[in-house]
Amino acid sequence: PFEKSKGQHILRNPALVDSIVAKAGLKPTDTVLEIGPGTGNLTKRLIEAGVKAVVAVELDPRMVLELNRRFQGHPLSSRLKVIQGDVLKCDLPYFDICVANIPYQISSPLTFKLLSHRPIFRCAVIMFQHEFAMRLVAQSGDSLYCRLSVNVQLLSRVSHLLKVGRNNFRPPPKVDSSVVRIEPRKPLPPVSFKEWDGLVRICFNRKNKTLGSLFKQKRVLELLEKNYKTMQSLQLAQDAEMGVEKMSADDVALLANMVEDLSMETGDEKEDDEMEMDDADMAGDGAASFKEKIMGILQQGDFAEKRGSKLSQVDFLYLLSLFNKAGIHFS
Ligand code: SAM
Repeated sequence: PFEKSKGQHILRNPALVDSIVAKAGLKPTDTVLEIGPGTGNLTKRLIEAGVKAVVAVELDPRMVLELNRRFQGHPLSSRLKVIQGDVLKCDLPYFDICVANIPYQISSPLTFKLLSHRPIFRCAVIMFQHEFAMRLVAQSGDSLYCRLSVNVQLLSRVSHLLKVGRNNFRPPPKVDSSVVRIEPRKPLPPVSFKEWDGLVRICFNRKNKTLGSLFKQKRVLELLEKNYKTMQSLQLAQDAEMGVEKMSADDVALLANMVEDLSMETGDEKEDDEMEMDDADMAGDGAASFKEKIMGILQQGDFAEKRGSKLSQVDFLYLLSLFNKAGIHFS
């Protein structure tokens, strides 16, 4: 009856469902968003927790039928609204809190969709695949620290709540799970997300290379120089000197389009020929001096010998501000 392709693994441990609900810190005024309610084990606890409303988005029409049947005669059924659809494609309703045991294949796009939704929610308590959860909470220096960690932590505080073994589900999935709390930062840090992600992409391009060697790559220098010249010719140098821009809702929405590869990062050290071509094929004085400019900025903040995997949020923010002050932009 359950479809693997839809990630249908039903929570069958009532104590676990209770503790997920308890961790959410629900208030009587809350509207709760549930994603993938399935047969409704979590849904039932949510409506009985005394919240204002539960809106549940479920893809599978058979599950929607089953849910409606299950809650038909329930005294609190008027608090439940079931929406049939793909949560990644539909417009999300207003919600204060998100509580969900999601299908793991949508983890990354869903996380960024939630974080770009406005008005921003108070908190999300979500079951993820254990490895994905560990990436979300990883700190600089941890082996799982990656673009996903840095980008999600720019926008929110993430904490690991509990590890959940596969036998708590029916049918049991092949992987263990973890429940994570995500609390959006208010206010958001004053950076352009496009700029931020552009910088972070370069810094995590090869996990074990120093920033000095990553920024010497021909394609990186060409990109930055192109952006630099565009900025200058558009006489936007003034804006550039002002450095930081506020992150707009549009910036955040861009996140949703940038995430396909995030959960897939493995840190594989594939050799890239382009990597090795630096000084030799930079033609002309202009290129050489632009490269010196970039290297100068890295040295100014003592970043040249550092690796992306060791940089904290604050380090990335500082590095971005050094680049922006010098008129260097990543988007
Ligand atoms: N919440 C239930 C529980 O804990 O027992 C079921 C969780 S099950 C892991 C995931 C549920 O999400 C399934 O019911 C599946 O049909 C639904 N689903 C899968 N993809 C979805 C999508 N894109 N949008 C909304 N629901 C989806």
